Amino acid sequence: MDKEHIRNFCIIAHIDHGKSTLADRILELTEAVSQRDMEDQILDNMELERERGITIKARAVTLTYHADDGQDYQFNLIDTPGHVDFNYEVSRSLAACEGAVLVVDASQGIEAQTLANTYLAIEHDLEVTPVINKIDLPAAEPDRVAQEVEDIIGIPCMDAPRISAKTGENVHAVLERVVADIPAPEGDETAPLRALIFDSVYDSYRGVIVYVRVMDGTVRPGMTIRMMSTGAEFTVVECGVMGATSLVPQEELAAGEVGYITASIKTVRDTAVGDTVTDAENPAAEPLPGYRKVLPMVFSGIYPQDGAKYPDLRDALEKLQLNDASLSFEPESSVALGFGFRCGFLGLLHMEIVQERLEREFNLDIVTTLPSVVYRLQMQSGEELTIDNPASYPDPAQIVSAQEPFVKANIFTPPAYIGNIMELCQDRRGVYLDTKYLDADRVELHYELPLNEIVYDFFDALKSRTRGYASFDYEMCGYRDSKLVKLDILLNSEVVDALSFIAHADKAYPRARRICENLRDNIPRQLFEVPIQAAIGGKVIARETVKALRKDVLAKCYGGDITRKKKLLEKQKEGKKKMRQLGSVSIPPEAFTAVLKLD
Ligand code: GDP
Ligand code: MG
Repeated sequence: MDKEHIRNFCIIAHIDHGKSTLADRILELTEAVSQRDMEDQILDNMELERERGITIKARAVTLTYHADDGQDYQFNLIDTPGHVDFNYEVSRSLAACEGAVLVVDASQGIEAQTLANTYLAIEHDLEVTPVINKIDLPAAEPDRVAQEVEDIIGIPCMDAPRISAKTGENVHAVLERVVADIPAPEGDETAPLRALIFDSVYDSYRGVIVYVRVMDGTVRPGMTIRMMSTGAEFTVVECGVMGATSLVPQEELAAGEVGYITASIKTVRDTAVGDTVTDAENPAAEPLPGYRKVLPMVFSGIYPQDGAKYPDLRDALEKLQLNDASLSFEPESSVALGFGFRCGFLGLLHMEIVQERLEREFNLDIVTTLPSVVYRLQMQSGEELTIDNPASYPDPAQIVSAQEPFVKANIFTPPAYIGNIMELCQDRRGVYLDTKYLDADRVELHYELPLNEIVYDFFDALKSRTRGYASFDYEMCGYRDSKLVKLDILLNSEVVDALSFIAHADKAYPRARRICENLRDNIPRQLFEVPIQAAIGGKVIARETVKALRKDVLAKCYGGDITRKKKLLEKQKEGKKKMRQLGSVSIPPEAFTAVLKLD
């Protein structure tokens, strides 16, 4: 297809504004898939994604659109992940496009991710074409929302298509806008190959399928390609485009086109998102701009509930990693939990997704420890340590200074909730930056917050204090000096290593008290009294007690049948076996999980 008739674009929106629904309608209108084959929301592939209504991995699809001008156009629709944890992947997907369709819900108007995604698109020089969605809703106010888009974002919106992605009304107008507003790609087919990797998935038969946007040159089967960040080389087995339900091989992919490459690549680690693919025999002088290595931000321990399942857990993590280059793990062990893995994630959502997939797709019962961020410590020896695990926290006497990671948060809210939000941010050790009044109904608050304070439950707390109206997103903004302490939890005077955590000194006491109370409420009474203590470097700062109780299972068996008594005793023994032995104290795994939940 000549470049004039190609349109590479993505759809951007705040979550739930209808991005996936619009993508489905576009797929239908371009007759890429028949109604019968159409599964709801084809672009959201995994079951989990569908249930949570989010898009975890970027996907792309090539469609043919017969436009009103009588010409056929090749549409490459690139789906972007919708969550801050995957911001880097979003930015690479945008870099593969010339334009973006901005979907705004006519009943909600502009929200945090509407702005964040639009700014990101504009930063990548994309042509942004707005669409007002959900006009079928009684609460829809398309005129007001169009005005809001013009006032706040500053792009013309009065004649933007007003559509219902749900009923399909006027979606045709969106496709015409794509043809008219979004520029055709540029690029030199005869230059050395440069293709941007914006996603990759592992397939057990073909190896890694690499999704690329060809910027310059041409790629075809038999060619030796080189990954410019690592120098790794592979021979192209196949290239082609992504149909709505299957891969469609082509003789070549040329500058301007979007498609896939397979080259017997064994792991997605070799195909880093943002990397440039070039021709090994005629390499490009410079890679495409914008590549960076993504580092995990949040760490937690993952243990099998049943110690015998350790090899299964390792296999499962290895399988997940084939497809998820940003998941890291290494073996660790805990006195309390046995053998497990220290895992690194891009953020909280990423962590929850991995945990859920382990439980659902691999049928594993797991116990996870409190998530931790990565701290930096300067030691008296002159060394700098990075600590992502409370277990490796050094002797405080040797620490000269400490830093923790901060994020810059943009919180988007109606003005009525400013007070509540400021209170919350203050409580989370936030540093106020400024407030931007966007219009009478919208305010954008800017804060710097410690990542550690967001990691637990910031999003839920924000939603509950603003009746769901506020939304937020964040980006890392570097390390700041911090006063840190390591807290140990002792049961019956023994330290339970899996419960240790690192906290800011000002937060240590309330957190310690809450964990002690949680433990008291969740540990079943034992035959002896169990003191629960929280301590910093041997100094106890909080204490609770679980009273002693002998649970006499035979109490209700007056005289009677000896076999019945035996059965009851057997049952009691079994119950005990399931308990997790924490030193001399046993607690059920459910209680352990409950304890780790801070609120
Ligand atoms: P995404 O998070 O932006 O991908 O949003 P989805 O496409 O998953 O849509 C979120 C919810 O809004 C779903 O329940 C959709 O059925 C609903 N929705 C999407 N478009 C429309 C629309 O035009 N009208 C109505 N009434 N609901 C819509
Ligand atoms: Mg979606």
